[in-house]
Amino acid sequence: MVSKELLEILRCPNCVREKEGLLTLHKDSWLICQDCGRKYPIVDDIPVMLIEEGDKWLSTAQESLPVPPPAK
Ligand SMILES: [Zn+2]
Repeated sequence: MVSKELLEILRCPNCVREKEGLLTLHKDSWLICQDCGRKYPIVDDIPVMLIEEGDKWLSTAQESLPVPPPAK
């Protein structure tokens, strides 16, 4: 599990400069940006907050995201 405290301070790296970039936790495995729809996997309890990683899943529907996310 990722701690609540960590989740509260995490923001989408693509959006945080211009907007809030708030993230929604999906099945304890993904963080989904409410502004741009990028999806960041949580691998081994560590959120992978890389824009290029979020880009990969941009067009994947929330219901289609693999759980758990693929390991690197
Ligand atoms: Zn975003």
